[in-house]
Amino acid sequence: MRSRTKLWLVMLISVASSIILFLVTMFVSGSLWDKGYSLNILNTISQETRALISEVQAPGKEQIQPILDTVHQQHPELRLEWVAADGTVIYDTSHEPERRYDFAELAYRVANMPNNMWGENAPITLVYTESVNGNPFYLILNLHGEAMKMGQFFFYVRTNESLIFIFLPLLWLLLLPYLSSLWYFSSINRRIGKLNHALAQVGLRQEVVVLHDKSKDEIGELARHYNAMAKRIHDQAAEIEQFDSRRRLLLSNLSHDLRTPLTMILGYAETIRTHSYKEGDELQNHARIILQRSRYMDSLLDQLLDITKQDSNVYEFKPVSVSVSELIRKVAADYFLFLDGQNIEVDVDVPEEFDSVALVDASLIERALRNLIDNAIRYGSGGQYLGIAIVRHEEWISIYVKDRGKGIEPEYLNRIFERFYRVDDGRRGEGLGIGLSFVRDIMELHCGQVLVSSKPNKETVFELRFPKRA
Ligand code: ADP
Repeated sequence: MRSRTKLWLVMLISVASSIILFLVTMFVSGSLWDKGYSLNILNTISQETRALISEVQAPGKEQIQPILDTVHQQHPELRLEWVAADGTVIYDTSHEPERRYDFAELAYRVANMPNNMWGENAPITLVYTESVNGNPFYLILNLHGEAMKMGQFFFYVRTNESLIFIFLPLLWLLLLPYLSSLWYFSSINRRIGKLNHALAQVGLRQEVVVLHDKSKDEIGELARHYNAMAKRIHDQAAEIEQFDSRRRLLLSNLSHDLRTPLTMILGYAETIRTHSYKEGDELQNHARIILQRSRYMDSLLDQLLDITKQDSNVYEFKPVSVSVSELIRKVAADYFLFLDGQNIEVDVDVPEEFDSVALVDASLIERALRNLIDNAIRYGSGGQYLGIAIVRHEEWISIYVKDRGKGIEPEYLNRIFERFYRVDDGRRGEGLGIGLSFVRDIMELHCGQVLVSSKPNKETVFELRFPKRA
C-alpha cells in the first residue's frame, strides 16, 4: 500500500476513534464517577411524577401525598411541592406548615435559575406546570446544589439549524489537527518521492538529478547527502571513462610502438641474411640499430609486465640492508656511458664518506631511480643537464633526480602519477604513462613517497624519499 493511502487511512481511523473515545470516556466516566442529578434526570423525575398525578381523580392532598412521598423516598435529596394556581401549597414533602406562596417569593426562588444550577452550593428550584381536570397546578422540585453532578456537558438545540453552529466548530476542532498533520506528512511524502525518483536515476552513464531541498531537517540533509553522492559517482564515472580511453590509446600506441621497431629489425636482419650490405661499417650500423630497437622493445615489454604486476598487485618486496650511495653510483655509471657524447652535463652528487645504509628492496629502488632518470633524459634533454644527488636526513633518505628541460606545468603535477597519464597523450614512442605510477607504488611499499617540483625550462626535481628502516 502506498504511504499516501496509508496516511489517509490512518487519518480517518484516528478521527473516528477519537470521536468514539471522546464520547465513551465522557459518558462512561460521567455516569461512573460523577454521581448526582443532572437536568435530564430531574426532568425525567418530574415527568414521571406528573404522569402519576395526571391519573388521579382530584389533585388534593390525599391523592398527591402518596405519590410525592414515594418519589421523595426514592430521591431523599429532592423536596417536592404541589402548588395550586393561586400559590397555595397543597402538599410539601418537607412538611412545612401550610402556606401560600406570593408572587415575589416564588419569583425570588426561580429568578436565578438556571444559573444556580452551575453555582457551587446554591439552592436549585425547578417549576413544572401540570393541568389536572383543566385547572393549572405546579410541581416544584427543590434540591441543594451539592446533590447535582459535578459538571455537565450539553447542547441546547431548539431548531435543527442550530446544529450547524454546534457541529461546524466541533468539526474544525476535530479535523484541523488531522488536516494539518496530513498536509505535513504529504509534503514529507512528496520530498521522499523526489529523493526516490532521483536515487532511481543514479547510474554510471545517467545525468545527475540535482535535488534543491534547502530545508535543514533530516530529509533535507538526506537530499544533500544524495547530491554529494550522485556528484561523486558522476565524477568517478567520468574518471573511469577517461582512464579507459587512456588505456585504449595506450594499447593502440603500444601496438604501433612495437610494430615500427620490429619492421626495422626484420628489414635489417633480412639485409644481413641476404648479404645485401655494401661494406663492414654498414653491417655494424645495421647491427647497432637492431640492438637499439630490440632494447627499446625490451623496455616496452618491461613496462607491460609492470602493468600486469600493478593489476594483480603482486610486487616482490624483499628489503635488505644496502648502501643506497653504492646503488646510485652503479646506476649513474651506466648512464655516464650511455650519455657519453650526447651533449648532456651529468652531475652526480654522492659524497664518499656518506653513510646511506637503509633497509630497502635494492632492485625496486633501482627501478624507480632508472625510471626517473629515463624521464629526465626523455623529457628534459632540452635542458642538457642531468643531476643525481643523495641527501641524508634524520629519519629518511632522499634521492633527487634533476633536469632543466621543458618541465611540467603546475596543473599536471598532481596527475602525472596516475596510471596511463601522459601530459601529451597524442605523442607516440615515448612511454606508456605507467612509469611514475610504478615509482609511486614502489615508494609506498617502502613507506615513503615520491615528490615533484617543476619550474619549466629552469629546473624539474623528482625526489624519492624513504625511511632508513622501511
Ligand atoms: P611515460 O614516461 O611512460 O609517459 P610516466 O608515468 O613516466 O609515463 O610519466 C608521465 C608523464 O609525466 C610523462 O608522459 C611526461 O609528460 C611527464 N614527465 C615525467 N617526467 C618528466 C620530466 N622530467 N620532465 C617533463 N615531464 C615529465
